[in-house]
Amino acid sequence: MKKCVVIFSGGQDSTTCLFWAKKEFDVVEAISFDYKQRHSLELECAKKICQKNGVKHTILDMELLNQLAPNSLTRSDIEVDEKSSEGVPNSFVEGRNLLFLTFGAIYAKVNKINHIITGVSQSDYSGYPDCRDIFIKSTNVTLNLAMDYDFVIHTPLMWIDKKETWKLADDLGVLDIVKNETLTCYNGIIGDGCGKCPACELRRRGYDEYMKTKGAC
Ligand code: ZN
Repeated sequence: MKKCVVIFSGGQDSTTCLFWAKKEFDVVEAISFDYKQRHSLELECAKKICQKNGVKHTILDMELLNQLAPNSLTRSDIEVDEKSSEGVPNSFVEGRNLLFLTFGAIYAKVNKINHIITGVSQSDYSGYPDCRDIFIKSTNVTLNLAMDYDFVIHTPLMWIDKKETWKLADDLGVLDIVKNETLTCYNGIIGDGCGKCPACELRRRGYDEYMKTKGAC
């Protein structure tokens, strides 16, 4: 039996990955992290999606991330600014994916799981260094050495953009679930979101582009 664990936030990308995993693996579990993110609603979305789709879901407390790296996604008193002059937007949480993958890997090993799925994408990485393929490959090697175990990190979205991520959701037959039940919006509005924040803009642009190509064929 092929088992995997999905690093799951309840957003568009990781939800698409969850359904990708359900197609590829016999047993799918999901793990989410509570770092007192600005919108705890994100975790509620994650919980509901798992419940509805029969996925075992574990939420780990990661509040220390908030203590260490105050940021627009973790603190409600910091405005989200995607276009920071210092290269990386202030929605970047330092070290987040490294920590998530490390804790995800510990969970996986304890539960005799080898495969870890994460929804990072180098195509849409907005300057986040820990969304790059080289980071994932290097972390995979490090985790294997750290725990003397054969982890395989899967990144189904690594080389596709938002438009293609919508296509993947559609191909998996879950376009409506991803469109209506996930939370990506920085203002905490489920589904189509506020329409104005950078996350909504990216999501909406991808959706419109995909719908255009779909209508064309
Ligand atoms: Zn929004």
